[in-house]
Amino acid sequence: MRILITGAAGFLGSHLVDRFLAEGHRVIGMDNFITGSRDNLAHLAGNARFEFIEHNVSNYIFVDGPVDGVLHFASPASPVDYLRHPIPTLKVGSLGTHNTLGLAKAKGARFLLASTSEVYGDPQVHPQPESYWGHVNPVGPRGVYDEAKRFAEAMTMAYHRYHGVPTRIVRIFNTYGPRMRAHDGRVVSNFVVQALSGEPLTVYGEGNQTRSFCFVSDLVDGIFRLFHSDRVDPTNIGNPTEFTMLELANLVQEMVGSHVAIRHEPLPVDDPKVRKPDIGVAQAVLGWNPTVDLRAGLVRTIEYFRGALPQGR
Ligand code: UDP
Repeated sequence: MRILITGAAGFLGSHLVDRFLAEGHRVIGMDNFITGSRDNLAHLAGNARFEFIEHNVSNYIFVDGPVDGVLHFASPASPVDYLRHPIPTLKVGSLGTHNTLGLAKAKGARFLLASTSEVYGDPQVHPQPESYWGHVNPVGPRGVYDEAKRFAEAMTMAYHRYHGVPTRIVRIFNTYGPRMRAHDGRVVSNFVVQALSGEPLTVYGEGNQTRSFCFVSDLVDGIFRLFHSDRVDPTNIGNPTEFTMLELANLVQEMVGSHVAIRHEPLPVDDPKVRKPDIGVAQAVLGWNPTVDLRAGLVRTIEYFRGALPQGR
């Protein structure tokens, strides 16, 4: 198959490119580098089955020749990024989703939308099943991402129902691993980079809020299975083992072997207090389960950042 992956230079996009190439497919990567990095694709130079188009998918997308699958992963995804780029975030979730769906329809391709656990907002149901409609503040600072993704889901279902496009929607929960940016702003990369640099770990608020962290290889495997399945309704993919941010800080300190302090900083506006996926659907429909626990995933993430940081720290 010939697969278009938008956001191909990003953390998840680049791992998906690798997976589809490893499965023998041809891949077209697309990115405008608003938050992506050329480094994430550098290892593919000279690969005859990979082509790259630099393009902002919020504008009309032209791709020559056949396309069998479209995976729409373009978007700023870290809270610090979508606060810095609120309008491009709204545009890529709305106009970008419309354009990628239009391309899938024109080419007769299967479409997969990267949605997010943020559609559940600050959830009042715990853990979150796909049937939960969420608790999102549309006008808060996170609204630009949450509402764009909620719109993207609605648009995807409309293209499925009205145009018959074969669509899939993955709701991605917190994911970490190699190729995250050192200054991505997400909690795992922040803590690992801070610990390796001998700086205090910045815990926002009291640190009692929870998240459930999925290692990137598990996530990519779930997405790959979903793409090849018949499941149209949204599907949670994430690791259901839940940690408080203080527990995560202590684990990172222990694993890096550093004795840096913990510095409390203000909790961001509308920061969800809890988050944990109900993965019953993915288990039953995709036969998928995460296999890499937080310790094992952190070993590989710490190793990556040791190599990626200046002076090899
Ligand atoms: N967080 C933190 N310190 C940091 C970065 C994040 O305590 O340096 C907290 C943040 O307030 C949130 C959780 O960690 O409660 C996860 O934040 P992240 O930005 O990784 O992802 P989110 O799940 O909020 O999208």
